[in-house]
Amino acid sequence: MTKPLISIVVPMYNEHDVARECHRRLTQMLEDHRETFAGELLYVNDGSTDDTLDILKELAATDERVRVIGFARNFGHQIAVTAGIHKARGEAVAVIDADLQDPPELIPQMVVKWQEGWHVVYGQREQRAGETWFKLVTAKGFYRILNRLTQVAIPMDTGDFRLMDRQVVEVFKNMPEHNRFLRGMVSWIGFRQTAFLYRREERFAGESKYPLSKMLQLAFDGILSFSHKPVYWIRQAGLVVTGVAKVLLLVWVIAWLAGGDGHLFYTGGQSLLGVLLGVNLLALGILGEYLVRIYDEVRRRPLYTIQEEWPEAARRPGPREWEARAFGEGEELP
Ligand code: UDP
Ligand code: MG
Repeated sequence: MTKPLISIVVPMYNEHDVARECHRRLTQMLEDHRETFAGELLYVNDGSTDDTLDILKELAATDERVRVIGFARNFGHQIAVTAGIHKARGEAVAVIDADLQDPPELIPQMVVKWQEGWHVVYGQREQRAGETWFKLVTAKGFYRILNRLTQVAIPMDTGDFRLMDRQVVEVFKNMPEHNRFLRGMVSWIGFRQTAFLYRREERFAGESKYPLSKMLQLAFDGILSFSHKPVYWIRQAGLVVTGVAKVLLLVWVIAWLAGGDGHLFYTGGQSLLGVLLGVNLLALGILGEYLVRIYDEVRRRPLYTIQEEWPEAARRPGPREWEARAFGEGEELP
C-alpha cells in the first residue's frame, strides 16, 4: 500500500519568532512517522511586515516538502488557511497555527482516526495554557451563545486545528463566501466528524496576532453567517415596543377624557420616543450587518491575491518544459 500524502497548512503573519521552530517541530514529526505517511508543508505568508517570508523562502529552498504561498497583503487568518486548503494536494489536509499552541505531534493521532474512517477530526480544547482570563471567559461565552443561535451544531471550544478528508476539502473548495468562519463551514459540510481532545499550549514566542477587534469580527462573522435569529429579534422587539406604545396611548386617552393635564404623559411619551429611536437604530444596525455581507458577496472579488509562490516551478513550467511542450520531445528548435 502506498503511503498517503497529508498536506499541512500553516498560516503565518509576522511569525519571525516562531517560523523556524514551527518548521523544525513539523519536520521532526514527519520524520518520526515517515513509515505511515508523507507530508507536504504549505506555509501561507499572510502579508507579514517582518522577515517571515524570507525565512519561509529559505525553508523552501532547503526542504522539498515545503511550499510557500505569499499573499500580496494581509488578508487575515481565516483567508490564509483557506488559500492553503485550496492549494493542498494531499489525501487529507491538516490545519495548524504557526505558534505551536496546537502541538504538531498530535497530527499523527489525527491521521490514525482519519484512517479509521472519520472524515473530519477536529481538535477540541480540554485545557488552555497561558491565555488571559478575559480570552478564556469571552471564548467560552461566545461558543455557548453561538450554539444557541445556529441551526448547524458547531462544536464547543474548537479552533481550526483539524484534519479533513479530501472529500470534505472538495466541498469546502466550492464554498466561495467572503465572510469565512471556517469551523462553522466545516460543521456545515457534514460527513463523519469526531472530536480530538487536547491541551492547548502557550504560544511558543511572540504575541497574539488576534487583537480584540479581530476576535469580535470573527465572532460576528460566526453568528451572522450561521444564524438568521438576529433578524427575528428585530421583529420581536418591534412587537414589544408597539405593544407598550399602544397601552400608553390608551392610558393617555383615558387620562385626557378624565380631565388630567397630560403633563406626565407628555414626558412619558418623550422617553418612549427615545427608546423607539434606539430600538430602531439597533434594528437598522443588525440589518446593515447582513447588508454589508451581501455586498461583500455580490462583488465576487477573489478571496485573496497571491504575489509569489515557491517553489516557482509549481506555478510556471520551466523554459525547458515549455520547449518540450511547444515543440514536442526531441524536436529541433527553430
Ligand atoms: N495569522 C494570520 N493572519 C492574521 C493573524 C494571524 O495568518 O492576520 C496566523 C498567525 O500567524 C498564527 C495563527 O494565524 O499562525 C493564529 O494567530 P494567533 O496565534 O496570533 O492567534 P491566537 O492563538 O492568539 O488566537
Ligand atoms: Mg495562537
